[in-house]
Amino acid sequence: MKRKDFLKITALGVGAFGAGSLLTNAALSDSPQKVETPLETEGWLQEPPRQIPVVASADVVVAGGGPAGIAAAISAAREGASVILIEREYFLGGLWTGGLVLPVLDTRALNAEGEMTAVVRGVWSEIFDRALAMGMVTNFPDSPVVDPEACKYILEQMIQEAGVQLIYNSHASQLIMSGDRIQAIIVETKSGRVAIQGKTYVDCSGDGDLMNWAGEEFDIRKHDIGVMYRIGGAHGLNVGTPTPIAGVRNMWMRGESNEDGLNVFNQTRLELLMRKRMWEQTQELKASTGRDDIFLLETPSLLGVRLTRVLKGKGQVTFEGAINRKVYDDVIGYSGAQDNVVYNGITYRPHERPIWQIPYSALLPQRCPNLLVAGRCISFDEGLNYDAREVGTCFVTGQAAGVASALAANLRSSVQEVNIGKLQESLRKQNVYL
Ligand SMILES: Cc1cc2nc3c(=O)[nH]c(=O)nc-3n(C[C@H](O)[C@H](O)[C@H](O)COP(=O)(O)OP(=O)(O)OC[C@H]3O[C@@H](n4cnc5c(N)ncnc54)[C@H](O)[C@@H]3O)c2cc1C
Repeated sequence: MKRKDFLKITALGVGAFGAGSLLTNAALSDSPQKVETPLETEGWLQEPPRQIPVVASADVVVAGGGPAGIAAAISAAREGASVILIEREYFLGGLWTGGLVLPVLDTRALNAEGEMTAVVRGVWSEIFDRALAMGMVTNFPDSPVVDPEACKYILEQMIQEAGVQLIYNSHASQLIMSGDRIQAIIVETKSGRVAIQGKTYVDCSGDGDLMNWAGEEFDIRKHDIGVMYRIGGAHGLNVGTPTPIAGVRNMWMRGESNEDGLNVFNQTRLELLMRKRMWEQTQELKASTGRDDIFLLETPSLLGVRLTRVLKGKGQVTFEGAINRKVYDDVIGYSGAQDNVVYNGITYRPHERPIWQIPYSALLPQRCPNLLVAGRCISFDEGLNYDAREVGTCFVTGQAAGVASALAANLRSSVQEVNIGKLQESLRKQNVYL
């Protein structure tokens, strides 16, 4: 296929709501492979300009297939948008499945009547129901713990049923901007460097990669980098967290504090350190319990990076607001509380804390008209460093960003202009607790 032919097709895909296009392998082979020898000046290389094929287009492009990205992609598709989901790994679920972070926290807290209420519903409820039917979730209703393989399977089924175009092994690496507007996303793949176009983009990379390239403002939060892992053969042993599979326990390691999760050299150092510790900790457990049948079943595919970039959005959700039941006109969902949090020297216990509202403005960048942010990099203050990034909360912000991105793409409006009443109505129809 000639470049002008596939550009014609992509333009059609961008123009027609609900009609995205994924182009053929022929388009990929058009990508020039040879790069001329670059200039070298004082440790920097000048990358020569090169042509990149636009291989796919859709109304909504979601980058990152963790809890936020899955919810965003499914809910945007259900709102009528054509959706492409770009994921750098070969599985869905992000830190939840690949990082073996199996307890889904923050799904419940106290409502205004003081009753414990399930507030994370929508896409999460469907995943939960499917896992329950398979016998692959335990420890509920408090902190449901899932089986990672069952969830990877469920997520792929749901993404396909929703008609989302999933592209694995695709690492988003840059944006092409026109002023503040995103024109395309550059993706590194085994098939070469390619471009993908959308009307609206949702940053679910966890690290806020898109908002960074779009020139939006953010905080850098250096936090603990640790790991979760699974041991087997632990029948009758009360260590870590139980999982749906008998004798398999989910183990937890807080790790190292004040760590930079964006530096690959640091990530590699920590990965090496953590794997050594996981092995040694398992051997110590065997020795201390006298249980020779215990074994290290699985180390995580993803290092446990908790926080990196956090958006400075149009609005911000705060811990003060959360514990004081702050009400927002642009509420897009609620989250719960299932960890002890120490704030200003006071310990707040999960079973004493209220459900809290999340405003749409916490997902909104300051300038970019076609970018929304969801998951662990939305706009929140330090007091919410735990609750704002738990898996349950990420499902809520992902679902809202997905519906809002579809609405913006449909009406060709900016994300800042999305009608809040219409957004809330669509979220209610998608079984979001509002
Ligand atoms: C050690 C640890 C323990 C935790 N414990 C709990 C717990 O017990 N319960 C709980 O609820 N939460 C826990 N959390 C928090 C929770 O796991 C995460 O905050 C949550 O998974 C974030 O979801 P997300 O979708 O925002 O991002 P992530 O889960 O980080 O997913 C991001 C996805 O984007 C992909 N991606 C990233 N960059 C790119 C790119 N440039 N191009 C393409 N794809 C990309 C990644 O591969 C990944 O699939 C823990 C976190 C850690 C690190």
